[in-house]
Amino acid sequence: MTEIQYRLPQQRRVGEFPGPNSRALAERRADVVASGAASGVPVYAADADGGVIVDVDGNSFIDLGSGIAVTSVGASHPAVASAVAEQAARFTHTCFMVTPYEGYVELAEELARVTPGDHEKRSVLFNSGAEAVENAVKIARHATGRKAIVVFDHAYHGRTNLTMALTAKAMPYKTGFGPFAPEVYRVPMSYPYREEAEIKGEDAAQRAITMIDKQIGADQVAAILIEPIQGEGGFIVPAEGFLPALADWAKEKGIAFIADEVQSGFCRTGAWFASEHEGLVPDIVTMAKGIAGGLPISAVTGRAELLDAVHPGGLGGTYGGNPIACAAALAAIGVMREADLSSRAQQIEGIVLPRLRAVDEALGEQSVIGDIRGRGAMLAFELVQPGTARTTKEPNPQAAKAIAAACLEAGVVILTSGTYGNVIRLLPPLVISDGLLAVALDVLESAVQAQV
Ligand SMILES: *Cc1c(COP(=O)(O)O)cnc(C)c1O
Repeated sequence: MTEIQYRLPQQRRVGEFPGPNSRALAERRADVVASGAASGVPVYAADADGGVIVDVDGNSFIDLGSGIAVTSVGASHPAVASAVAEQAARFTHTCFMVTPYEGYVELAEELARVTPGDHEKRSVLFNSGAEAVENAVKIARHATGRKAIVVFDHAYHGRTNLTMALTAKAMPYKTGFGPFAPEVYRVPMSYPYREEAEIKGEDAAQRAITMIDKQIGADQVAAILIEPIQGEGGFIVPAEGFLPALADWAKEKGIAFIADEVQSGFCRTGAWFASEHEGLVPDIVTMAKGIAGGLPISAVTGRAELLDAVHPGGLGGTYGGNPIACAAALAAIGVMREADLSSRAQQIEGIVLPRLRAVDEALGEQSVIGDIRGRGAMLAFELVQPGTARTTKEPNPQAAKAIAAACLEAGVVILTSGTYGNVIRLLPPLVISDGLLAVALDVLESAVQAQV
């Protein structure tokens, strides 16, 4: 990675927590902001750069969340900031469906280059991950003339009506929000740590395929939609061979294979896309989070024959592919390429994984760490009740909560996830310095040790 110039001091500094200015904002918020829009952290951001978030009281937190895998290039990368300012000074919006502009075309060219496969591709741009997933489904249905969509246990695909149906977890994402969209079918994921008996990736794929065949019928299926590494589900990396076997079968049956790379994309896992780790070439890829250094933009890129099956005007939206967001994405992708952030993500894996394994080993038989997994800078550990790591694997969401809270109070922002709420996930900005990462890991280690 090329040397990075940071604007803010890369340090951890926590005084009063939450400080008076954050507390005052919390009071104002309670009167006007809907309680459904909750925040994990009780402090309010004032500034952020590289690996730190500075709050309105001057506390400086080490960021191990990147705003959920978004600010991979940092939250104020100068290349992104200046691209945004330049574009905003020229025009903020014309609507691509009315008056098109170069940035959209240029971003589609970039997406054709960086997504897996060298087939002819087309792209269409939206605003959020959920919107990208919805549109990928629209495209697959239109192109195949079929209706059924296959999704997996532990999947997360968003919060709009269709994507709620695609998402597995009821609380907090679905409870009370039905009725949900029809023609969505859920099949078993490959979740190596929680399989009843060890099962090869190919066999786990066959288990899902048999269910699809028997319960839906392959010829009814428009798409198989899957996160190559599940995000909210707890950074579940399927057994080797699972994804390729599914993709091969989909191809044979004329089913579109959609990789939801909204969280795993853009260098996060040590490659442009997580699909690449198993040589997977999805028919359609959905992207959002890491794409634009924090600006809201998402994309669907896929085989030309699938995307071009849709009639003109069938895809779009007022803001989709906003010119400022396109400029930000082009700048962020440029940074990823020049700074080789995929290699940086691999380095982060090389720093963090051994450290987590050492923490686990030191805890011995009573360790609350059941599983350590992930790729690149998309890493997680799953917490279980003491002593059950190799036996009943009883989820320990209390420990995950307590660890995240302890880290936060000590100045490290960390996220939880997982179907059982028992996973600590690490998503540092890829531009975090080794020094800052080491401090964060010290804090995390103490927080985990305090659980035993
Ligand atoms: C976050 C996420 C989404 C939804 O993205 P939004 O921008 O929040 O709508 C969809 N799929 C995956 C895999 C995600 O992680």
